[in-house]
Amino acid sequence: MKKVIAIIVAGGKGKRIGADISKQYLNISGKPILAHTLKAFEDCNAIDSIIVVCHPSDMEYCKKNIIKKFGFKKVIKIVKGGKERQDSVRNGLDAVPKSCDIVSIHDGVRPFVSQSIIKKSISDTKKAGASVVCVPVNDTIKEVLNGYAAKTLQRQKLWAVQTPQTFKTEIIKKAHKKALEKGIITTDDSSLVEILGYKVKVVEGSYENIKITTPEDLIIGEAIANRLWI
Ligand code: C5P
Repeated sequence: MKKVIAIIVAGGKGKRIGADISKQYLNISGKPILAHTLKAFEDCNAIDSIIVVCHPSDMEYCKKNIIKKFGFKKVIKIVKGGKERQDSVRNGLDAVPKSCDIVSIHDGVRPFVSQSIIKKSISDTKKAGASVVCVPVNDTIKEVLNGYAAKTLQRQKLWAVQTPQTFKTEIIKKAHKKALEKGIITTDDSSLVEILGYKVKVVEGSYENIKITTPEDLIIGEAIANRLWI
């Protein structure tokens, strides 16, 4: 049986949201965003264990107010985050036990991921070695340089990247090692795997699987939470 671990990265400070506490600890529908996210993975029977990556100054807060308070039993480790998201993921990967064959990396601030998306990303990874959840973009995307449109991209080909991004453990560890050696920094783990020459399977996600980034996202998040759970 393949062991599957989720790494939930919650090591950012989320300054764009303009609150005093890190955005992953703000409430949506009366519950912290990170608690919603962890519940999705705790409840998913395809996930064996969870590693949570926290900002160094939030470790105790997260342990007491999220993991203990909501009784998440699958959380096996809380790990310190790094300067960039990629550093936080790498710290999470370093904590993955040897018995783990598959790692599913997910943003702590994407609380509305569904069970079916998590399961599909794992089953596709079992076949393909690597998968990334994405949705087709609805807006036309331009490349902008110095305030002017430099290029208009072909919308039909473009997909917006979400998480989970799920990999065979040895592949994602190799990809992060290479990135560290070569000084490559990205906001997306699957691109590091692509650089190694592996094919990454695209799993169609959902427009509800939003990343809470700005104050507007909190309003949208409330609407999604209330539609899902009332
Ligand atoms: O930076 P962004 O909002 O895209 O972050 C996506 C996820 O990565 C968030 O859950 C955030 O907490 C996490 N992150 C991290 N360590 C960092 C920066 C971001 O774990 N240094």
